Amino acid sequence: MDNLPIVNGIAVIDLDDTLSSCQDAYNKSKAEYLLKTRVNQKEFDYLDVARAKAIGLNKYNFKETMLMLYARTLSDITQYDPEIEQLIDRLTDTSKYEYPIYGDTMESLQRLRDNHFLLFLVTSGIEKVQRKCKINKFGKKFKEMFVDITIVDRKTPEIFSRFLQIDPDAPVYSIGNSLSSELHNSYLAGITNLIHISKKNNWQYDNGAHSIPEEKIIHVDNITQAVDYILNNQYKGENYDPSKS
Ligand SMILES: [Mg+2]
Repeated sequence: MDNLPIVNGIAVIDLDDTLSSCQDAYNKSKAEYLLKTRVNQKEFDYLDVARAKAIGLNKYNFKETMLMLYARTLSDITQYDPEIEQLIDRLTDTSKYEYPIYGDTMESLQRLRDNHFLLFLVTSGIEKVQRKCKINKFGKKFKEMFVDITIVDRKTPEIFSRFLQIDPDAPVYSIGNSLSSELHNSYLAGITNLIHISKKNNWQYDNGAHSIPEEKIIHVDNITQAVDYILNNQYKGENYDPSKS
């Protein structure tokens, strides 16, 4: 039995805007649309977020919002420009976006592995885009960091509860930038170590709705600080001070 591998902890990690940039690609696409159509940004955000909340996020939302608002700018039918429709097609093809991995991702994941953590990636979105444009692109080494990679349409407590079954002695940490998605569902599943990567430029569809008591959430700025917190917590029992990292 002595040969069993040591497991110091389990880290369940989100992908978009936690390990790699995602929202920026949408913002860039939106900026080009606003420039070419002269649609007002506030009007755009209002409708886009309202529709996502009312009908749920799907791969057509962004494009439909663009088409609807473009139609509103026309005062008569002769003004309709098919080139704008082509532009919208191009701007909403998310498989053509760039989703760069953050500079500190590989090193941070490696630090957890070196400290005998089991890592799991849990991401939501269009499976083909998540796999082809992100996970596969980040390379074999990235994929090998994880025991398992889960791609789902939507995160639920059931998806997270299985991580509590792996090793009853190992603490489970959930790390992500969305309070209402991975962290709320982790909390409902019973995971108590919740690390929120607070971004200034956060996912605008994250309505932030959650029922996690504020004192249960650890707020950090990036994956490096998340790992610092976990390892400090693990070995020293000291309170985390971001100014010391
Ligand atoms: Mg995310």
